[in-house]
Amino acid sequence: MESETVVGGRLVLDGGVVPGRVIVAGGRIATVEPDESEAAGPWVMPGFVDVHVHGWGGHDAMGPDGALDGMARALLRRGVTSFLPTAVTAPLEELRAFADRVRRWMPVACDDGAAPLGFNLEGPFISPQRVGAQNPTFVRAPADVPVADLEPLLQGLRLTTIAPESPGALTLIGWLRARGVVASLGHSVADAEAAQAGYDAGARTTTHLFNAMSGVHQHTPGLAAVALARDDVYTELIADGHHVDRVLWPLIVRTKPADRLILVSDAISLAGTAAERGVLGGLPVRVDGDRCTLVSNGALAGSVIALDTAVRNLARFGVDLPRVAAAASANPLALLGVTDRGRLAPGLRADLVELDDAYAVRRVMRAGVWHAGPTERTGEA
Ligand SMILES: [Zn+2]
Repeated sequence: MESETVVGGRLVLDGGVVPGRVIVAGGRIATVEPDESEAAGPWVMPGFVDVHVHGWGGHDAMGPDGALDGMARALLRRGVTSFLPTAVTAPLEELRAFADRVRRWMPVACDDGAAPLGFNLEGPFISPQRVGAQNPTFVRAPADVPVADLEPLLQGLRLTTIAPESPGALTLIGWLRARGVVASLGHSVADAEAAQAGYDAGARTTTHLFNAMSGVHQHTPGLAAVALARDDVYTELIADGHHVDRVLWPLIVRTKPADRLILVSDAISLAGTAAERGVLGGLPVRVDGDRCTLVSNGALAGSVIALDTAVRNLARFGVDLPRVAAAASANPLALLGVTDRGRLAPGLRADLVELDDAYAVRRVMRAGVWHAGPTERTGEA
C-alpha cells in the first residue's frame, strides 16, 4: 500500500481560496478535500513555473556542466518547480552549444531541483535598437539566417523572443509555430501595425511587458499597447517593482484576462548571492540591493528575484491569490502546452508551495517529495 502525504492549509484553487487538504500519493495529487478546520494553515499554491530565467544562486544557464543543476536546486528552494533555462543573445554556435548542454542534461537533471521543460532563447532575433542588457554584437535579422542554421536549435526549444518588425520575422514566427515553438514578441520598436502582424503570424506571448519595447503613447502606440489590448495573447511581467513601476500594475492586471498574465523573473546568475558585480552575456553588471544594471549605461540588466518575490509582491498589492497563482503556474504551462501540473487538482503532478502569512516560502513539494525553502529570509518588506 502506497503511503499518502497530507498537505493542509488555505488551498489556492482556480476558483478561490478554500481551506482544506491536498492528499498526495505516488507523486500525484489524489484528492482535494475542503475542510474549514484548515483555515489557519499556510497558503498552499501550485509550484511556480519560470519560463524566463537566465540563472540563479551563482549559476548561469549558459555556464559549464553543473551550472544547470545548481540553478535548478536554487530555484526549487524559492518555490519554482519547473523552468526553462534561458539563453541571452549570443553567436549561433554558442546557442547551439547551450541547446546541446540543456538536452544532455534534461534526462539526468537532479531530482531535488526545479524540473526543466526545455529551454528559451531570448535572442538573437531582437531589435538592435532595443537590446536592453543583451549584447548588440550578436543580434541577427531573421532574413539573414538560413533555416538550416536554426534546425539544430529546435529540439527542446519552447520559447524564443522575436522583434516582429525585423526583416523576415513574420516568416520565422510562422515557421517556428509549425514546429511547436512559441514565439514571444519583444526587444522591439514595432509600431502597432507591426505588433499586430507579429501576433497574427503566430506569436502568442510578449517578452517582459514594457521593458525593451515600444510602449503606450496616445498617437504612436507600440508593442506594449497591442499586447495589453489583445485578449488572445499572453504577456510576461517582471513584478520586482523596478522593471515596471507599480503605478502601472493595476492597468496590467485589469487589462489582461486572468489566464493571460505570466510572471517571470528574468533573473540572472547573481540572484540569490551576495555578489555585487558580475557578467551577463559578456557585459559587466552591478547589483545594488534588488536592482541589477549594466555598468556601462545603467540599463536594467535582468532581475535578482525569483518568482516567490513576484508572487509576494502581487499578493501584497492586493491581486487575488488565484489570479496570482495562475500567473505563476497555470498560465506559463498553458502557453507551453504542458497539462500534467500547475493546479491543485486530482491527477496532476504534486508540485506545491507552502507559504506563510507573509507569503514567504516555507517548503516546496516537487512530484510528491518535500524540499526545504530558502535558508535566508525571504519576507523582505
Ligand atoms: Zn531575459
